[in-house]
Amino acid sequence: MVVTAAIVLVLLGVAALAWGCRGGGNSAQANYNLFKDLSARLIAQYKIPDEGLIEGGKLITYKSNLRGCLPPVKPVVVTSGNPNLKRVALTLDDGWNADMRILDLLKAWKIKFTTFLIGGRGVVDTHPELVRAIKAGGGEVCSHTWDHYVMRGKDEATVMMEIWQTQNEITGITHQVYPYIRFSGGAYDQPALDWTAREGFWVVNWSVTDNDTAANPTVDSQVNTLLAGIKPGAIILCHWGGHNTYEVLARAIPEIQKRGYEVTSLTRVLEGTPYYLKGSTGKGANKSGTQ
Ligand SMILES: [Zn+2]
Repeated sequence: MVVTAAIVLVLLGVAALAWGCRGGGNSAQANYNLFKDLSARLIAQYKIPDEGLIEGGKLITYKSNLRGCLPPVKPVVVTSGNPNLKRVALTLDDGWNADMRILDLLKAWKIKFTTFLIGGRGVVDTHPELVRAIKAGGGEVCSHTWDHYVMRGKDEATVMMEIWQTQNEITGITHQVYPYIRFSGGAYDQPALDWTAREGFWVVNWSVTDNDTAANPTVDSQVNTLLAGIKPGAIILCHWGGHNTYEVLARAIPEIQKRGYEVTSLTRVLEGTPYYLKGSTGKGANKSGTQ
């Protein structure tokens, strides 16, 4: 299964490159035409089920309509991971004004991480190369909604659009679906949480932040705040274009590692918790939705 998955990943990677050559700005539907060609080839050559494969807490898929691809989950807001593992999750949000020194640092230090990217507003929709670079650099790419509006008081159709339009755009580039989403500002109301869970996503917030959205923070205070919140299962919130984010991570990561922790991705920190995608695809999935 692992070998098969590796073959699939290589094939999907080739498809992603081919898609990239066609340029961005296409509609989501246009992106998926290539998926359909790939689907026929994979089914013929490797007998891959339509729904795709679950590997490492994510769905690897070439489905053209993602709604229904994940089984429903409980409406839970996750703020920390497995307390029995000495791992902490590094999450980086938004994607506006991305400081690429952060990605270079994480790549150089071979740090896995997770990013919650905005689908629209000039992030994923117009910068597929950012998504590809993050994935190639060891990042798990998840949705931070399409518009980055506060998900309170929204109607169901709006929340569905915010979830699936973003996920479709991301998966069109990565061919991966992680069952995680983060709302703007970590804000939500009960209906938004219920609808999101029904669609198969856990809402993930954080247990500690480096305060890189505060007004005029100092690197010293940010590093201290971050280090004070480090414990097994901690979920760290930072931003790609935050204040001093690069400087803080460059100082804090070695210190966290010195304390015996692995700084890593969300899926590794959620291993062994109920918030981890397991099993075969399709079972119990919500098949009733249409896009
Ligand atoms: Zn945000």
